[in-house]
Amino acid sequence: MGNYSFNGGIVIKNPYLVNKVEIIQASLPKKIILPLQKFDGNAKPCVSVGDYVLVGQVVASIENGFDVSSHSSISGVVLSIDTQDIAHKSGFKFQCITIKSDGEDKWIDNKGGNVDFLHYSKETLVGIVQKSGIVGMGGAGFPTHVKISKVLNCHTLIINGTECEPGVMCDDALMQFYPKEIILGVEILLYICGAVRAIIAIEDDKQAAYQALLTFNRNDRININQIPTKYTSGAEKLLIKALLDIEILSGSFAINEGIICQNISTTKAVFDAVINHKPLVSRIVTVTGNGVYPNNFEVRLGTSFEHLISMASPTNTKEHSYRTGGMMMGIDVVDINMPIVKTTSAIFINNKVPEPIVQECIRCGQCSEVCPIGLLPQQLYWYVKSKNFEKALNYNLPDCIECACCDYVCPSHIPLVSYFSFAKMFSKQQTIEKNKVNSARERFKYREHRLERNKLERAQIMLDKKKALKEKMVKEQFQKQKITETIQRLKQAKDKI
Ligand code: SF4
Ligand code: SF4
Repeated sequence: MGNYSFNGGIVIKNPYLVNKVEIIQASLPKKIILPLQKFDGNAKPCVSVGDYVLVGQVVASIENGFDVSSHSSISGVVLSIDTQDIAHKSGFKFQCITIKSDGEDKWIDNKGGNVDFLHYSKETLVGIVQKSGIVGMGGAGFPTHVKISKVLNCHTLIINGTECEPGVMCDDALMQFYPKEIILGVEILLYICGAVRAIIAIEDDKQAAYQALLTFNRNDRININQIPTKYTSGAEKLLIKALLDIEILSGSFAINEGIICQNISTTKAVFDAVINHKPLVSRIVTVTGNGVYPNNFEVRLGTSFEHLISMASPTNTKEHSYRTGGMMMGIDVVDINMPIVKTTSAIFINNKVPEPIVQECIRCGQCSEVCPIGLLPQQLYWYVKSKNFEKALNYNLPDCIECACCDYVCPSHIPLVSYFSFAKMFSKQQTIEKNKVNSARERFKYREHRLERNKLERAQIMLDKKKALKEKMVKEQFQKQKITETIQRLKQAKDKI
């Protein structure tokens, strides 16, 4: 076991405290926008413009083992299938399906209800998770069925209930309101991945959630552990180090070490899918910030930020800025018409403040002290700024988890993470281009080799033919000679007679 802590990181007091955690049902949106992006590209829609769809109906189906299905979260008519902006770090546009609500909220017949999951094979359960559209809802969006079916010799399942981003409380709310469902979700995951034990990790500032889970846990293979509240305890590798004292090396993954991490929202979604046959069509989103009274809403996927923002209670009439994901690792939302997706855990509504003035690095070293990965942000910054990406890579830039601890403490307000994420993206692109060039060179070399080999083979065939012809001629000459000699011998014999 680990010592429940890790080097670096920062303790950030939650600036948006609430007296009581609640979940409010958000009203139905008038329309939804469902991005069809999957981990490796765009999913193909299986509905057309003008089609009528029900809640839970598949609108983009599975094409390969990596895909998950996408479902409509409202009943209504497909308005368009086109590319639109969504709140994503890449800034790319994605193929989306827009559906206009008929206001009826008519569901597919899901034939669900309190099934005993032990009656299913593991393969069937993995299929249910895949067809229910479940991905990691903590932010990464990695297909859950891939993780739980690919792990070899799984010994520990970690359920990440740390929610270390200050102010985000959607998982806290789920643990408080659905502890029984979450414990059952953990049991389903334990059964599928065959782990010996599960650890639910909760930060020690979430006492109500901790007590709720303790009350409902009757399974001695499930441990519920509290860890100190410190940002970034929720980062997968750091959490594994803190809980198990196992280091996942650079470039490696938890599943290579027989460990699976899932977050609370994902675990609840697994419960809904397996026990109630309910696909992933909604999620809990925290709406917080100094511009509103913080709360949690259960909201249909594809609902616009604007719709949810309109339901929050503002604390003032000031102009607001919007951010999604988290105050540390989240991204700014410039267009509030963009949709809430499976990985949207929170919206921050803050009073607009002027951007801080960026100053020169004073080499104070604070950024290095807080880096939980043990990187040298100041050094990385100099290399990236001078476009010396190779040097930055040598200083382990790819290991940066973009947690923004360095940004948070930098007295010069240097947007270090922006530099790092740009450099990472640029280097990744360069590697892709380099691989393309290398592969083209390899193909060219192979072609040259193949042409040369064909030439040699053809030359050899000609030589062989020539040799065979020569041998044939010699043989024919020899036979001719023999015949002539025989004729002469016959002639001489005849003359003697
Ligand atoms: S914290 Fe900021 S000012 Fe201090 S060394 Fe790092 S980059 Fe420079
Ligand atoms: S953003 Fe990267 S460099 Fe900065 S503290 Fe986090 S891991 Fe370290």
